[in-house]
Amino acid sequence: MLQVTNLSFSYQQTPILKAITLQAKAGEHLAVIGESGSGKSTLLKLLYGEFDANSGTIFWKNTEILGPKYNLVVGYDFMKYVAQEFDLMPYTTVSENIGKHLSNFYPEKKQARINELLDLVELHTFAKTKVKLLSGGQKQRVALARALAQKPEILLLDEPFSHIDNYQKQRLRRRIFRFLKKEGITCVVATHDRDDVLGFADNMVVLNNQTIAAKGQPINLYNNPKSDLIAAFFGEFNKINKQYVYAHQLQVVAHSDMRVCVKQAYFKGAYYLIEAQFNNTPILFEHATHLAPNDYVFLEIITE
Ligand code: ADP
Ligand code: MG
Repeated sequence: MLQVTNLSFSYQQTPILKAITLQAKAGEHLAVIGESGSGKSTLLKLLYGEFDANSGTIFWKNTEILGPKYNLVVGYDFMKYVAQEFDLMPYTTVSENIGKHLSNFYPEKKQARINELLDLVELHTFAKTKVKLLSGGQKQRVALARALAQKPEILLLDEPFSHIDNYQKQRLRRRIFRFLKKEGITCVVATHDRDDVLGFADNMVVLNNQTIAAKGQPINLYNNPKSDLIAAFFGEFNKINKQYVYAHQLQVVAHSDMRVCVKQAYFKGAYYLIEAQFNNTPILFEHATHLAPNDYVFLEIITE
């Protein structure tokens, strides 16, 4: 398994990560979340051995992951990393990029694996296209496929679907994460997108103020967010009597002691997000239909 113990790191004098301890079992999907600038990418680079930590250790099974000071060639055979700025070979084709790490010794086997991965990321029609002609999202899919070509034991993904448009993102995400589970590949995913976490991650850690602010199963952090940062990661929320109440956990009822004044209704597709006011406090809730500004309604917390 992956075992990170007391890991600290700073760029020059600026501390970025302090005493980070986390683990991921073989085959586990671990999400690392946090605001932009919280150190997610830095953590992934440390896990990959791209930097030397100030202190602490990283182990994958019995192998210690070491930075460039102790390890001439960055990276390990059992690990692949898809950076936020994926570096592909722009003047070669999609197929050649995907096959970059595959041996030419068995050309048919190599081609079969490339085809399987072209299928996975749905880029068959671009197999012979030069990468520099692709869109950002297509490049990101090539980078994902290339990282999987030689099946790694552990895969590090930095915001893996950030460049991919919504038409493809949901389906591709399901395909990739299902593929990783099927192949038993451990993965650590840095993301600020809850959709990369909910339904996929076995565990998650929240980075904030250089440390791990929370860790656990997504369902537990969702049900008991413990901080505004965590609640906001999962969705629109309110704090009512010190409790976190998501917008969808409030419903309009005939009568209650929470009488609110509607300020604005935002169409969200399956529902409207309503901005309202309760004794000068803003309240957000979801409602099936449009509500007119300055209408008064009564709200109740849905208890399951
Ligand atoms: P995240 O991925 O969560 O957005 P990063 O790990 O990229 O965060 O960055 C964490 C902090 O480290 C930020 O304040 C960023 O500006 C800083 N940082 C990132 N890379 C470098 C670098 N190469 N040199 C100095 N500071 C950096
Ligand atoms: Mg980042």
